[in-house]
Formats: sequence, structure tokens, C-alpha cells
Amino acid sequence: MTSVYIFGGAADHADPRQKDKAVVGGKGANLAEMAAIGLPVPPGFTIATEECLRYLEDKGAFSKQLEDAVAAALAHIERTVGKRFGDPADPLLVSVRSGAKVSMPGMMDTVLNLGLNDETVEGLTAVSGDARFAWDSYRRFIQMYGDVVLGVDHGLFEEALEVAKEDNGLLADTEMGSEDWQALVGEYKRIVAEAIGRDFPQNVHEQLWGAIRAVFDSWDSERAKVYRRLNDIPRDLGTAVNVQAMVFGNMGDTSATGVAFTRDPATGERAYYGEWLVNAQGEDVVAGIRTPQYLTRAARERANAVPLSMEEAMPEAFAQLSRVFDLLERHYRDMQDIEFTVERGKLWMLQTRSGKRTAKAALKMAVDMVAEGLIDEREAICRIDPMALDQLLHPTLDPAAPRDILTTGLPASPGAASGKIVLDAETAEQWAGRGEKVILVRVETSPEDIHGMHAARGILTARGGMTSHAAVVARGMGRPCVSGASAISIRREERALTIGKRELKEGDVITIDGSAGQVMAGEVATIEPELAGDFGTLMDWADRHRRMKVRTNAETAADCRRAIGFGAEGIGLCRTEHMFFDAARISAVREMILAENEAGRAAALAKLLPEQRADFAAIFGVMGGLPVTIRLLDPPLHEFLPHGDAEFAELAAATGRSVEQLKRRAGELHEFNPMLGHRGCRLGITFPEIYAMQARAIFEAACAVEGAPPVPEIMIPLIATRREFEILRALVDRTAEEVFAQGGRRVDYLVGTMIELPRAALMAGDIAAEAEFFSFGTNDLTQTTLGVSRDDAGRFLTQYVEQGIFARDPFVSLDIEGVGQLVELAAERGRAARPGLKLGICGEHGGDPASIAFCDRIGLDYVSASPYRVPIARLAAAQSALR
Ligand code: ADP
Ligand code: MG
Ligand code: MG
Repeated sequence: MTSVYIFGGAADHADPRQKDKAVVGGKGANLAEMAAIGLPVPPGFTIATEECLRYLEDKGAFSKQLEDAVAAALAHIERTVGKRFGDPADPLLVSVRSGAKVSMPGMMDTVLNLGLNDETVEGLTAVSGDARFAWDSYRRFIQMYGDVVLGVDHGLFEEALEVAKEDNGLLADTEMGSEDWQALVGEYKRIVAEAIGRDFPQNVHEQLWGAIRAVFDSWDSERAKVYRRLNDIPRDLGTAVNVQAMVFGNMGDTSATGVAFTRDPATGERAYYGEWLVNAQGEDVVAGIRTPQYLTRAARERANAVPLSMEEAMPEAFAQLSRVFDLLERHYRDMQDIEFTVERGKLWMLQTRSGKRTAKAALKMAVDMVAEGLIDEREAICRIDPMALDQLLHPTLDPAAPRDILTTGLPASPGAASGKIVLDAETAEQWAGRGEKVILVRVETSPEDIHGMHAARGILTARGGMTSHAAVVARGMGRPCVSGASAISIRREERALTIGKRELKEGDVITIDGSAGQVMAGEVATIEPELAGDFGTLMDWADRHRRMKVRTNAETAADCRRAIGFGAEGIGLCRTEHMFFDAARISAVREMILAENEAGRAAALAKLLPEQRADFAAIFGVMGGLPVTIRLLDPPLHEFLPHGDAEFAELAAATGRSVEQLKRRAGELHEFNPMLGHRGCRLGITFPEIYAMQARAIFEAACAVEGAPPVPEIMIPLIATRREFEILRALVDRTAEEVFAQGGRRVDYLVGTMIELPRAALMAGDIAAEAEFFSFGTNDLTQTTLGVSRDDAGRFLTQYVEQGIFARDPFVSLDIEGVGQLVELAAERGRAARPGLKLGICGEHGGDPASIAFCDRIGLDYVSASPYRVPIARLAAAQSALR
């Protein structure tokens, strides 16, 4: 079985492995596919991902087999283009590119023009008849190869170029002539020799293998690791290498290079979208060195730009390109992100892939493509990443709020964000780590900034276009981004910057509007998002296809209202302790906790009863007849205790007891391990009057509802044994009867438990004999099963994920193989004991798509998620049902 696949020319593209992105990477698979459907693709070959893993395993050795296969594949390119690699008279040049199964910005940058040396550059000059082009290509090659393969600081090359331009009084690269480039090549070679202690490699085969080696090595680079960690990409995918004959966009004014999307990746609008540059090569368009031009006339006019669009400047090549766009969209049935080059009027395709898009665009495209008959409703549902919806659910800038606009750049990634200015990725991560909202402001971003971009609320750059690194990555991450705001000048050392005429410092608050490209001083007011339109359409489709219900975790009327707006079908978890923290009641709560005896507690509880009753009445009012699961008090009492002398003094004044007395009592409540201490149902067992008060408040509120009464589901936390549950269920039932007798009205209710201890899961059959529902409290179940405290896990969890001990943070995404077993087993045993037992999940995991799919598979009735996660859960549940 070969691990080198040729494409283009006479290649047959028949091996199914060449279509498999896991084998040849996304770039390799799509290059072969484009060649197979007859598009103009320069010939080349792909070295499969398995060779990368083998190479890393073998500590950098290549097999003889691989060397032979590469030689044969190189011969295929030579035959197809009629040039030989290293031929001093008419050299074949190639590009070397990485390409994993999924697109990974952390990977090695592409090397272009490989195969140039002091001899072949003369041949290239003679054949092209253009010395300027040949020497420009050679200096680009040394620069790229020097930077990415030999590890020479790229700043050195940039400085040398600046100096060369200054010396000659030139402003732009395009003004450099052939002698200027030739002189610069000499300078570049000197820089390389000085940096690495040997000459720039002249042997073209050494060049090629050096580049292949660099691609493989980059798979284990720091930035690739960071990217994989942030995006849950497994290491054992490996990367492929693509070697491809060069075509030249820098052969004068009939040549060009560009990037394009078949639809607008920011809005989803059905219009070609992209940027291009005349007489340019490779990454010039995205590197921000020259300002790229618009692809279409319409886009140019809309932006009021002067330089001609490709549609106007190169109508024939543009016509070829738009035919390719349509063909590719129909072929892949998805929006494509395309890279192309025009060499002396002829169009060449260098890459296509399904394009990254904002959530808004993803929704619009999915809904539009169903209308266009390109895909069906089910596929539309499955195409949307549920987590991406998050972008649409958060507030946007209030159009009526005043805006103190500092400057305007390109609307690179939509959405709005406010935060403190930070000038580098490390600071972004640090400040965000201590809970601050930050906006990362950079001249331009690079893959080393990924972690800072992730930590930031928004990204602002001084340079770079709509397809710059910052723009593409921000859109992928769902961060608002304004790019190319050229009125910004940053002084990193002073931690300060100028925006337009205004001086700002790191730490000053700004707001960016990634949809309008605006940068504003201070924080601008926001409004709630509008969830109609495409969003509503897709959600309706999702609801038609899902089996599981989606509830919400909420305890205030405002949260309940928001969740219902997002489509919640009930409350899966109402945490009563949040009500205890309310400033107006905390003192009664403290009085209750610090009481010396039952009478003292009863007096304090009597103050709390009407407050709790009012809370529940408000919730029942908002929820109408929807089910509401209310959890009785769960956390250890010490969480409510006063902090500091002032609060103790205040409480002493309120209760008429001495500060010493109160402090002593507080000391008695101290626990060594509160997570496993006096909490949950253990409070109900030892202080039954607390649970009795809460149950009373619930029933009184339910009975007072006008019209159809709600069916409260009372949930007892942290049950480990059936006996605990029996005692507390009896307490709840007794309280219910008292309330019903007093008021003369009865309501239906359920009493159930949270399953959050391994013992409860194991004994689920026994407990279900008494409990009418289970709700899996997977936060605690994860803590207690793993023996890991969530609040202390931060110190080691990152390492655990990095070293692959956990695939993902088990508090974010359920540990399906471990904790999941307990959930599944408890569900089975529970249902066996009580057919029809109602089952749900209310941990953080209820909003995580992978965990939701698991809940669907094992037949839970519902998941419960925080209000903003409700639409995510609806979509994830539908996807699970469809897959
Ligand atoms: P990335 O994954 O960062 O997009 P690519 O491997 O696609 O990197 O290469 C970046 C750019 O290099 C491409 O957009 C294209 O313009 C240029 N390029 C790559 N291979 C060739 C080639 N064979 N001929 C001309 N340009 C090329
Ligand atoms: Mg690149
Ligand atoms: Mg590319």
C-alpha cells in the first residue's frame, strides 16, 4: 500500500484512500478531487499522514520506500509540466504545504518556489524572460525557507528588505527592480549563513527533504499543540505533506493571486466574496503587506474603493473563476473557501475547502441551501455546530446608544465586544484568567497568538484584510474582530497606543463592533438578540426531529422568561440556595444557621417562608403549566456565613447576640472537606425544619396559582441510601398534607432525587422504589466518581488534557466511558424498578453537545441547560436523533 498519492496530469485519482481526509489531509483530498473533476490544478503529490506519525515515531528517519515513492511522484510532476527539478536550464519549482485532516492554523507555513538556487535562478530568468520575476521568486524562497525550515528569525529578512528599499528611495516592493532583488538575495544568503552557521542549501533535493521534515516536525510544535488542545483535535491524526508544481501570480500585470469564498462568510449572503492582488504570490494577499483589492465590482463600489476589482481588471480570468465557483458549490454542496492564482491570464486552482463561517452565516446558508434544493432539512440541521449558536444568543450593541468612535477598520468577524485593551496574547490570557474582559489589540495576529485570541472577547488589528489570520481565526472562534484599522499605532514597550488622534493605554476600555468595523471608546450599551428569521426556521426544524425535551436551570423569574424565549420546556433545576444569597434575606439565613437551637431556627425560618413562597409563586407564574423541578437546600451551611468583622457586627446587632457567640457557632460549622460534608439531604435529615419550610413554601405557592395548578417536582439532593429518601419524602408528604388541609386545595406533585453519588447510581433500583424521578447531577457525580474536586482541578486538569489522560475536561464534557457508565446503569436499574421513571440531567453537561448525544442514546427524557444553552441543547438533541 502506497503512502504517496499523485494528482493532476495523467493521475487517475482512483484510489479511494486519496479521497479520505484522514489519509491525505483535507488539502490533499480536495486538490485530487478538483483535478479529478477536470479543474485546472497544478500537478503534484501528497505524502499521507501515516508517514508523519511514522517519522515522529522513528525520531526523524525516512524509509527507503518513502524516498523511492517521492522520487516516482516527482517524476510525475516533471512529466506533466515538461520541466525537471534542479534543471539549470528550465527548472521545475514546487511548493511544499502541510495539510491535516482538519484545517489547522498552527501548522507549518507554506514554502513556495522550492527548487531555486544560484544556477536555476538563471534558468528561470532565461525561460521567463523576466529577471525581476526570477530574482523576486528566489528571494521569497530564501525568506520562506529560511524562516519556516531553517528557523531564521523572519524579522531579519524584513529588516533587510526595508533597508534595501530605503537605500534606493523606494516605497513599495513593486518598485524593486531585478538588480535590487538580486542584491537582496545576496544579503538574505548572508543572513542565513550567519544564523545557521552554514550556507543556504543549494541542492534541490536537500531543499525538498528539509521542507518535508519541517512539515512533519511542525505537527509537534507548540502552536500546533495549543491549537489541538483548544479544538479537541487528537494528535494521532498526523499531517500530510503536499508537493505541487508552482504556478506564478507574480509574472507581471496579467498575473495575480487571490482568495475567495463562494458566499459571504460573515453574513451568508449569496455573493462571491474575496480579495486578490495583481503581480503577487502566495500569502501576499493575507499577509497585509499590500492592501488587497476587491474581487467583484459590486463589493468595490459598496466599499467606495478605487483600485479595480478582478471582475473589472481581468474579466476573462474572473469569468473562468466564477464558473469554477458554481461548479465547486454544486459538487461539494457547501460554501467553498478557495485559493487561486492567475499566471499570464490562465487560472489555476490551489485549494478549496468548506469555508469557515460565522454562526449567522452558517444559519443563512443552511436555510438558503434547503430552499435552493442543494441540501435537505436534515442535512441543514446537522451542518450547524450547536456551540456556534452561542454567538447569536448574546446581546448586540444597542443602535440607539451613543458611540464615541475612535476609528474604523474592516468588519472582519461580526458581533460586538467590550473590554480592556491588552497588547499581547500572554497578557490577554492572564487578565482573562482573573475574570477580566479583554480585547486583544495587535498589529496583526499570527498562530502564536491563538491562546490570547481565545481568551479575548474581541480582536482588533491594525493591519490585514478580511482574510487575514486574525479575521479567519476570529470567525472560526466566534470572536468579534475588526481588522486593518490602520489608524492604530501600538507602542508595545510603553504598553500604550494611539488610535486616530487619541492616546490610550493597555487596560483602557474599548468596544469593537465587528459587523460595522467600528472601534469605540468605553463600553457601549447592548440589547438582547432577535431570534426570529433563519434562527427560528432552523430551530423549528430541529424541534421536529428531536426526541428529548430540553429544560433549563434557572431560579429567577427573569432567567425563566429568557429560557422560555429560547425554547425551554420546563425547569430541570431550580437551586433554592441562590435565593438565600439575596441581600434582603441573607441576614435571616445567617440567623437560622447560627441559631443555638430549634426554636431559634424556627424563628428565623418563619422570616424566610414568605420570601421563598414569593419566589416560587413568581416562577410558577412565568412557567405556566410547564414542569418545574425544585431542589431543596444543597450547599453546606458555612457558605452562607458572614465574612469579616463588619458582617459579624451587623448580624450581632440584628440578632441581639454577641459577636463572640456568633463567631464560636460559626467556628463549630467549619468543615475540612465541605464537598463531602454536612450538605444536601444530610441537612434535611439533621435540620428537618429547613426542608419543611421549603416544602411548605412550594406547596403554598402552587396552591395559590390561579387556574391550572403547576405540578412541582421536588428534588432531594445528595441521596446515597433509600432510607434517607424515605425519611425526607415522608417529611415532604406530611408538609403537603398540612398545606392542603389548611387551604382546601390539593395539587399534584412528584418527589424525586438527584443521582450524584456513585452509591446512589449503584442502588438506583432500590431508590427508584421510592423516588418518582431521577435527575443526574453530573457535576457532583463527576467529582465523586473521579475523586476530583472541581474547584481544585484547575491546577492539574490542563496537563491531564494535554497529556491525553482525559480527552476533554470531564466537567465540561461528560466522561462517557467512566461516569457515563454509572448514569446508564442507574437509568436502567431505576427504570427496571419503576417503569416510566422520569429521567433527566441537570449538570453543566446538559448544555454540552457530546454529553447531550449520550443522554439521547441512553433514553433520558430531558436535558436541562442554562438559559443561553437551551437552543444549543435543542439543536444537539436533534442532531443526535438524526445521526
Ligand atoms: P494555508 O493552509 O496557510 O492556506 P497553503 O498551503 O494553502 O497555506 O498556501 C498558501 C498560499 O501559497 C496559497 O494560497 C497559494 O497562494 C500559495 N501556493 C501554494 N502552493 C502553490 C503553488 N503550487 N503555486 C502557486 N502558489 C502556491
Ligand atoms: Mg499558511
Ligand atoms: Mg491555503
